[in-house]
Amino acid sequence: MSQCIPADQLRQRVASIIQQAGSQAAEAEQVAANLVMANLSGHDSHGVGMVPRYVDAVLEGGLSPNTGVKVVLDTGPLLNLDGQRGYGQITGVQAMQMGIERAKQYGVCTVALSRSHHLGRIGHFAEMAVAQGLVSIHFVNVLSRPVVAPYGGGDGRFGTNPCCIGVPMGQRKPFVLDFATSRVAQGKMRVAYNKGEQVPDGYLIDEKGHPTNNPGVVVVPQSNGFFGALMTFGDHKGFGMAMACELLGGALTGGGTWHREADNKRAVLNGMLTMIVDPVRLGTHDAFEKEALAFEDWLRQSPNAPGTEGVLLAGEPERKARTDRQLNGIWVDDATLAEIQASEEKLKQRHV
Ligand code: NAD
Repeated sequence: MSQCIPADQLRQRVASIIQQAGSQAAEAEQVAANLVMANLSGHDSHGVGMVPRYVDAVLEGGLSPNTGVKVVLDTGPLLNLDGQRGYGQITGVQAMQMGIERAKQYGVCTVALSRSHHLGRIGHFAEMAVAQGLVSIHFVNVLSRPVVAPYGGGDGRFGTNPCCIGVPMGQRKPFVLDFATSRVAQGKMRVAYNKGEQVPDGYLIDEKGHPTNNPGVVVVPQSNGFFGALMTFGDHKGFGMAMACELLGGALTGGGTWHREADNKRAVLNGMLTMIVDPVRLGTHDAFEKEALAFEDWLRQSPNAPGTEGVLLAGEPERKARTDRQLNGIWVDDATLAEIQASEEKLKQRHV
């Protein structure tokens, strides 16, 4: 069972909860709009289902409402920003606004953002840059629970470390590649577990390090009290990307890497290294645009593989989902709605 809810209605409800949790109205609206946009884009794992976790994080002190970035270093094309555990939907946007302005001024800007609370869908930030004709590259680490195993390893050692690349395509829709380096999102395993489904080979190892098809191994503690782990995508290559995200998004930003046992804290901290390039300032803009569009045309001429809808470019599935869900509403499952309602009750109790 689930309910189909219009985006506006969902946005208002979430904004009200975030405000109840201590945020000023403008912040609450920005956080709500970002989460609902993730749902609209088809990524329910990063949408309104995060709200209960955010509320718990505020109540535990791991997430600080009404907190923006602090500038640690500013050399012009190099920015080092401390997210100070503020909402990532706020700090991430601030970091991108500063980075975009600098990239236009200097041709490039590297932004190191540390200690931000959950940044949500990283594609949101790439979309800000491509809308201004800029290329942007993001490496992100996750300090929350080590749910992903290193290639060749037998337990979870790091997070789902996303990577994102946004490229403007002239007057056409941009290329926005935005993915977790785990084979599949943790949220999708919870859904499969709740439905009693098994998952394909190659997604998971159990609490003893053996391959399994049971999604429960990453959802509930197993017989020995430990969890299993997700695998990285693309075997050793995905592991390499995940490690690059930890080294760049975690170590280089100063936010830190994961190297300790898990605890039960609800806060999710992200570190994000962003590199923004202005093709106009690089002097290659016209050739870049011509070649990029020629390559897209070439790809689209490929015949459909049997049983597929043909070639899609990164960013297209999200745009299609937005058109559909904006019109027809967003399906939210009962478990998520119950958790959101429980958060509302929790906040009400706090105010009595
Ligand atoms: P996914 O597996 O759905 O992959 C998404 C990417 O693949 C998108 O760029 C999409 O346009 C592209 N894509 C999808 N189908 C395609 C097709 N048929 N042909 C060509 N391209 C296609 O997404 P995911 O890995 O589950 O990640 C989901 C979201 O979770 C992302 O927005 C990511 O930023 C976010 N995330 C955030 C965190 C965090 O800590 N903040 C952690 C992990 C993931």
